[in-house]
Amino acid sequence: MKNYQHYINGEWVNPIDGEWFDTQNPYTDEVWARIARGTESDVNLAVSAASSAFDGEWNEISATQRGKLLNKLAELIERDSVRLGEVEVRDNGKLIAEMSAQTKYMAEWYRYYGGLADKIEGSVIPSDKAGVLNFTRYEPLGVVGMITPWNSPLLLLAWKLAAALAAGNTAVIKPSEFTSASTLEFMPLFEEAGFPAGVVNVVTGFGADVGASIVSHPSVAAIAFTGSDVSGQKVYEAAARQIKHVSLELGGKSPNIVFEDADFEAAVMGAISGIFAATGQTCIAGSRLLVQRSIHDTFVERLVEVARSATIGDPMSMDTHVGPVTTAPQYQKVLDYIEIAKQDGATCVLGGSPYSGPGARGKQFVEPTIFTGVSNNMRIAQEEVFGPLLCVIPFDTEADAIRIGNDIDFGLAAGVWTQDIGRAIRMSEKLRVGTLWINTYRAVSYTSPFGGYKRSGIGRESGIEGIKEYMQVKSVWIAQQTSVSNPFIMR
Ligand code: NAD
Repeated sequence: MKNYQHYINGEWVNPIDGEWFDTQNPYTDEVWARIARGTESDVNLAVSAASSAFDGEWNEISATQRGKLLNKLAELIERDSVRLGEVEVRDNGKLIAEMSAQTKYMAEWYRYYGGLADKIEGSVIPSDKAGVLNFTRYEPLGVVGMITPWNSPLLLLAWKLAAALAAGNTAVIKPSEFTSASTLEFMPLFEEAGFPAGVVNVVTGFGADVGASIVSHPSVAAIAFTGSDVSGQKVYEAAARQIKHVSLELGGKSPNIVFEDADFEAAVMGAISGIFAATGQTCIAGSRLLVQRSIHDTFVERLVEVARSATIGDPMSMDTHVGPVTTAPQYQKVLDYIEIAKQDGATCVLGGSPYSGPGARGKQFVEPTIFTGVSNNMRIAQEEVFGPLLCVIPFDTEADAIRIGNDIDFGLAAGVWTQDIGRAIRMSEKLRVGTLWINTYRAVSYTSPFGGYKRSGIGRESGIEGIKEYMQVKSVWIAQQTSVSNPFIMR
């Protein structure tokens, strides 16, 4: 069985306290590797390495050179994309059909920010003061602590790391305790690409130990966090004690809204993709399906028919549509919410139980599940489940759809299905979400900013906005003459 150590200052190191924990394959249930269980002492070592790199060799490297390193890294990711994808499938049960494309696509984030590294310009500011030159410089923040969840470890890391490195920061990363392996398997590529030691470090372990130690370390300038709103709030509160820069990519309960004028079949497929892709374990899951009442019954009928035909089983098979739930606590959470929905009076029209049919192995399969008769104030409609569980809510008018769509604490994403261009524009203005898809769902790109409104987070990743999250602006004033006319009066 493989042992994964911490990656600190370009070296593999054992946990100082000598503790390890198991990582499991959610499909087979087998423990396939042991992961170093970090503590504050390991975090101190990693932050020290990242601080030295930031003040030393990394600081000497030009933005153009950083860009070249990121481009080289992108090539290596493409070369190793199959290997990295397979590690994710083994560790978190994501489908190989999705991962084979996702790990390759991830390279584009490093390439995009590699290109952007030497194009972030300050400006010369026209000054109202005589005899001074005033200009701005964009500078990195320092050591960035990056904390990631288990659902797409490498891709979500890329959204942070590519931008942060391009901006000139260094990093201490803590992947989820459930899926640490792929981040560690990724590390040798930094060395091969030519990054100096200490620029990127990984300490594995649990949120309360390693995560909290990173957040509270005085030499960590910024925290980039992706995870649940509950943990995000704790991180935000702890970071506030030291006035750190924080970006939070949190959960969602996204409305996927189908109007009666939609392309019916496209909308059905969009609803399926919104909730059953990745076994519903995506922050952008369209887990609240709002369907106009006039087409509600026929839409649900077709939805059930398509969902029922999904192939459940081995995530390593290219033919599988729905894999296992990634973690045991998450599996239990999905089953608990099925019970809550039933108790609250929703009608289960598909699934609603653990799945043990053809293709199932291990203990973490849940049937694709659809509830109708849901009202928006039920817990199943308000709380993020993060599993293959869809609730369908009928609505009558466009105004109802907007009201119900926005009647939630989250604001990560939404989908709208309509052929009416005027309605599409109105919905884009009224829905309070960071990402809106019209007649499509689940599209993301390195070119486009992504992030949440309301309880779904703070800050943006990807696109040009993404690099600014990892920079601060300095205003520099230079006087042409050295004399100070009256030192007791502001210039
Ligand atoms: P989680 O909040 O339980 O854990 C996320 C990470 O935070 C893990 O590495 C964990 O160890 C760490 N952590 C937990 N408590 C901490 C603390 N007090 N201090 C520091 N670190 C701590 O989330 P999860 O179950 O791993 O992931 C699922 C959640 O992530 C869902 O809510 C999902 O919507 C969200 N998510 C959001 C996005 C986005 O981009 N908005 C993307 C993917 C997932």
